[in-house]
Amino acid sequence: MPSNAEAPPLPDPLRVPVADSHTHLDMQSGTVEEGLAKAASVGVTTVVQVGCDLKGSRWAAETAAAYDAVHATVALHPNEAPRIVHGDPGGWSRQGARQGGGAGALDEALAEIDRLAALPQVKGVGETGLDHFRTGPEGVEAQERSFRAHIEIAKRHGKALVIHDRDAHADVLRILKEEGAPERTVFHCYSGDAEMAAVCARAGYYMSFAGNMTFKNAQPLRDALAVAPLELVLVETDAPFLTPVPYRGRPNAPYLIPVTVRAMAAVRGLDEDALATALSTNTARAFDY
Ligand SMILES: [Zn+2]
Ligand SMILES: [Zn+2]
Repeated sequence: MPSNAEAPPLPDPLRVPVADSHTHLDMQSGTVEEGLAKAASVGVTTVVQVGCDLKGSRWAAETAAAYDAVHATVALHPNEAPRIVHGDPGGWSRQGARQGGGAGALDEALAEIDRLAALPQVKGVGETGLDHFRTGPEGVEAQERSFRAHIEIAKRHGKALVIHDRDAHADVLRILKEEGAPERTVFHCYSGDAEMAAVCARAGYYMSFAGNMTFKNAQPLRDALAVAPLELVLVETDAPFLTPVPYRGRPNAPYLIPVTVRAMAAVRGLDEDALATALSTNTARAFDY
């Protein structure tokens, strides 16, 4: 049996095409062509390919250069930055270990992200931010330094900032305020409640909802979606992670976006086409493509 044997079936196509605002094609099974064709067949005609380390960021930039349907973002993931500083070979990449770690290794890696961020097919800097769930107190300093550097890079190049915020809402919002957020800032896999959505709305931050908004225990996410200004709402898969109900636990991919769009439309009390139109416009505006 192929490794994608348990891949969920194709949903009914969307009538209005949308973008998957955050995906990791390099972590999914099958070729890029297959993934894009499958997505396009159900109305997911654009994807934002997100880099998490140097290798992944280079790959994102190359893939976006090769396919019109793909836009790239580049970054060192919040869980990657401490690994580079500490020279931990267990990370997504081994650059830090090769360079022996230390703050210099992080600076070198950031210089490469800076170089990639200048490329025209690179529309954003991220995912960056803070992850207090997977990185312990020993990694906080490296994570914060990396986050601040990514904010600076995004602003200097006029690119969108893609935020990964796991169990770190207050610190992420504080650092954005201290540094001054870029004009276009996206909270990927938005995980705050309705109260935080109001804060994001006032700041003009985009909120990108993933398949976990369909989970039974995710009422706070649905409450946030219900009150978020429509013009700041995006949809994403974060595939291969966070597969929406009823396929939770099976491999996720951009072609499953319609499942989440329909769940979102129900929360908003909106017609599917109207929501898809808004999502499509919002994603193009957020990433300036
Ligand atoms: Zn993330
Ligand atoms: Zn991601």
